[in-house]
Amino acid sequence: MTSICEKKYKEGERNFYYKTYTSAGISMVLSVFKSGDDLFNQGVDLIKRKEYVKAKKNFERTIEKGGREAALARVYVDIIDACLDRDNPGRYARLAATLGNINEGFEFGLTEIDPARLALECSLLAERINTAGMPAKAAAQLEEKGNKLLDIARRYQTMIGNNTIAISEIVGTPVHTGIKEALYLQAQGYENLALGAVMSDPKRAAELLQNAYACYKQLGEDGGKTLNTINAYSRSVKCWICGRPSTGEGVHFLAMPSDISPFMRKSDDDILKSAPGDYNSVYVCRPCYTAISRRSDEIARQYHERAMQEMRAMEARLQAQISSVSATMIMRR
Ligand SMILES: [Zn+2]
Repeated sequence: MTSICEKKYKEGERNFYYKTYTSAGISMVLSVFKSGDDLFNQGVDLIKRKEYVKAKKNFERTIEKGGREAALARVYVDIIDACLDRDNPGRYARLAATLGNINEGFEFGLTEIDPARLALECSLLAERINTAGMPAKAAAQLEEKGNKLLDIARRYQTMIGNNTIAISEIVGTPVHTGIKEALYLQAQGYENLALGAVMSDPKRAAELLQNAYACYKQLGEDGGKTLNTINAYSRSVKCWICGRPSTGEGVHFLAMPSDISPFMRKSDDDILKSAPGDYNSVYVCRPCYTAISRRSDEIARQYHERAMQEMRAMEARLQAQISSVSATMIMRR
């Protein structure tokens, strides 16, 4: 026989469930009762479905509840943050630190992860992104950036070698081996060093670019752009205007459009040529070129200012005439 007390209690219980389950918070109520481990396992499934934002919430709640896998959940949260903000070097630096608390291998989606290796990859990647963002205008800055890139390349080569870089697979950037990544970084390093050297020593810049070209060739890339720059940096001519020798096309001398008569073509018997083969321009050294262009800019500015002054004077004259016409019309009304 059920006592009145028991009956009332059961009714109360039913009401409680009725009110709770019919509200919009069914799933919320269910998850309140979930253990940290259940949330964790559900999070792992959500990662497999690439539902990172939802998965992150699960892992955060696992950490709050102190589930058995709380340390791994922290790593998952940092991996997801890196996936959702993959150009931010701070994400990788943080992930590298969190991975230090994990000893055993685990999976992220379909990727097998060795924590120590991934931590190394993340530190290298953070350093790489920071270096890519370094200022590179002055020669000293370019040299510093170039040397840093070469240093990171050496570490990719020796520490990662022929292994595939897992962090690229995880965050969805092109996946390379350590060796391949090192070659790309070396090429960029030499390009920066070459840019830093070209103002003072174009031949040295061309040599540095030869190294970058070799890297591109090893990567199976064309490297045509680099080769063109090598040829330009190595080219030597004689300035048509001042007769001084110069090396490094586009940097220390330039081709200026010109009209070279057939007579002048024949007289050009110097070993260092002063004009390209099509005779549509002449080679001019940088000092001659800048002197000419600055002077012509100055002349153009003077013409512009004179024209503007004349336009303003004309505008004032027209305005005066309009006023006088209006005044005459008012008087006639
Ligand atoms: Zn010159």
